[in-house]
Amino acid sequence: MNKHLIIILFTLLIGCATWSCSNNAKRIKHVEMVPNEEPECTSPHCRILIQPYADFSQDKAENVSKQLVHALNEHMKGLAVTEVKVLPNKPLTKDLMNDAKTRYRASKILDLQQGMIKQPGDVVIGLTDKDISTSVHGYEDWGILGLSYLNKSNCVISTFRVKDKSQFWKVVLHEFGHGFVGLPHCPNNDSSCFMVDANGKPNLTPQRHFCDSCARYIPK
Ligand SMILES: [Zn+2]
Ligand SMILES: [Zn+2]
Repeated sequence: MNKHLIIILFTLLIGCATWSCSNNAKRIKHVEMVPNEEPECTSPHCRILIQPYADFSQDKAENVSKQLVHALNEHMKGLAVTEVKVLPNKPLTKDLMNDAKTRYRASKILDLQQGMIKQPGDVVIGLTDKDISTSVHGYEDWGILGLSYLNKSNCVISTFRVKDKSQFWKVVLHEFGHGFVGLPHCPNNDSSCFMVDANGKPNLTPQRHFCDSCARYIPK
């Protein structure tokens, strides 16, 4: 091994050891709704970019962003939110729909959003009132609350399947947990934990914290 390679490897090792990769990446289990990709290094600060789609109003998006920041201050105290930006609305075009043209494919929306991440610490959160779907639980087109790829800081969340809209922020926090922190679903299947798997039957009311198992991986 030449000298330069050794220096580069050493630098990478130090970089990854500084925060969450050492805490999270090696211990993250594969979750059925996300591809098994190598998580990226994240750092304990973020800039939140909220992207409302179609007729999800700017006021509503502002309100969701305030609730999310409040929840992060409460439940992820070690994470510094440097900026929150609500972006101008974008249309949801027909090419983002499933073959039957009944729902929007969440993965297509995530692909669209990927280019919006401009700097380390950016997290993009798409918001829609329309029904979104993905291939999961053995179904080609399963309606979901939200989708994110672990540690990719890219999430899309829909109000469509949330009965009590005042609880919607919990779905946003859950996806933020997947997308930014790299948390898998709650290993304890604890109904009071934000990371519990909705399994098609969301019950958001009992959710009030990250259980001890999940909290081990979030910035304190
Ligand atoms: Zn948990
Ligand atoms: Zn989930």
